[in-house]
Amino acid sequence: MIRKSLIYKTGVEYGDYTLNHALGCSHGCKYPCYAYMMAKRFGKVKTYEEWLQPQIVENTLEILKKELPRFKDKIQLLHLCFTTDPFMYEHDEITQLSMEVLRMANAHGVRCSVLTKGLLPESLDELPLRNEFGITAVSLNEQFIQEYEPGAAPIHARIQSLKNLHDQGCRTWVSIEPYPTPNMVEQDLAELLEAISFTDKIIFGRLHYNKIVSKYDGYQEFYNRCVEQVTDFCKQRRIDYHIKTGTLKNQDGQ
Ligand code: SF4
Repeated sequence: MIRKSLIYKTGVEYGDYTLNHALGCSHGCKYPCYAYMMAKRFGKVKTYEEWLQPQIVENTLEILKKELPRFKDKIQLLHLCFTTDPFMYEHDEITQLSMEVLRMANAHGVRCSVLTKGLLPESLDELPLRNEFGITAVSLNEQFIQEYEPGAAPIHARIQSLKNLHDQGCRTWVSIEPYPTPNMVEQDLAELLEAISFTDKIIFGRLHYNKIVSKYDGYQEFYNRCVEQVTDFCKQRRIDYHIKTGTLKNQDGQ
């Protein structure tokens, strides 16, 4: 697949600019995946099975050679990726391309953030700039992960790959989003927080686009309690945190 442009401005909190150098994602999340829903709606893929077969943007590096000099002074943090996964589990060709993208961005003085449900390579610590490496971790229950993130890396291996980078002095972060309600999986948020307590930053957010949430009586109170727990934990452990908009609501729905 060939594209004309890659870098674009975004409103997400992980970075002010982003790029997606593949279409599709073998992780096949069933929360569901917003990127898949949009790709299907706009006719970029026809089926879930097609979404699971990622197509690389073959001219990624050529485009970036032109775009990075143009964007480098505007970008605070370039996020990989918004609509695919840069370290798709067991897809070496995507991992290798992502590493080249990161090297090239850093060579232009552009810092990056990455977010994955795959495994973060240890060689990320050799990059010259202070990038931010993140994983998504919403549960320690491997059975739940298998069901909702069927192609993603096992959760304990994912956390270990992040810990390895932390131990090398890299800045790390964890996205606990979309956090499942107890009718999806019974679990103790404290255990999850403890398992990732080494990280520098936590982002917490609720699950959207899934009717199963509204079937859980008192789901808003549940999310409000979770937000309090995450906030208290992060304050005690001096971890930066961010609560995604719409996760915490008071009785007026605000
Ligand atoms: S890892 Fe991200 S892009 Fe890939 S299927 Fe899951 S939610 Fe979608």
